[in-house]
Amino acid sequence: MSNKQVIILLGPAGSGKGTQAKLLVKKFGLEYFGSGDALRKRRKAGDFTAKKLIKVMGKGKLVPSFVISKLWIDKLEKFKQRRKFNGFVIDGSPRKMIEAKFFDEALEWYEWQKEAKVILINISRRESMNRLIKRRMCKKCGRLIPWLGQFKKLKKCDKCEGSLITRSDDKLVAIKKRLEEFKKEVIPAINHYKRQGKLIKINGEQSIEDVHKDILKAIK
Ligand SMILES: [Zn+2]
Repeated sequence: MSNKQVIILLGPAGSGKGTQAKLLVKKFGLEYFGSGDALRKRRKAGDFTAKKLIKVMGKGKLVPSFVISKLWIDKLEKFKQRRKFNGFVIDGSPRKMIEAKFFDEALEWYEWQKEAKVILINISRRESMNRLIKRRMCKKCGRLIPWLGQFKKLKKCDKCEGSLITRSDDKLVAIKKRLEEFKKEVIPAINHYKRQGKLIKINGEQSIEDVHKDILKAIK
């Protein structure tokens, strides 16, 4: 068996997948690709796509597949060049059926298909909504502060001391739109992995530590 970890983390917004991804990165020394982070970075480029992304994401819509796919393909190519490489975590992507199929091809191409595990962090729509409304972002460094466990108590950013604000795409209408998009677009992608026998479902309505433990058990 290969000792590389290739983990795809999926779940509705607010499921804590970003937090879990970072725990896995630390635990196994993995590379990280977060579609949310990558898109927020992409929005700063100042070009046509950057401006359009700000508009589209502000409405809670999913970004087009070619934009996000380009970002993760570039990243996979970079991972392949690493000398010391333990594997990687993909956080929050693929988010559509077409992306899941495209991603299968990419994993096949880079010869990681066998190692790939897909983990769904499952939380109810109601819980997702509640966490999204309350979660905050650092004004200075852009770090997302989940509405979970000890993070709830933070008054300032735990990385840079910046002040915390509610993100514009976390406003109620946008949140509802995002949850609708999840049902319409992401669920079919999740079912695609289920049919492949690759899907691991984790109960996300537990403490950060317990979700992490369940993931570790599942990927052993
Ligand atoms: Zn910060």
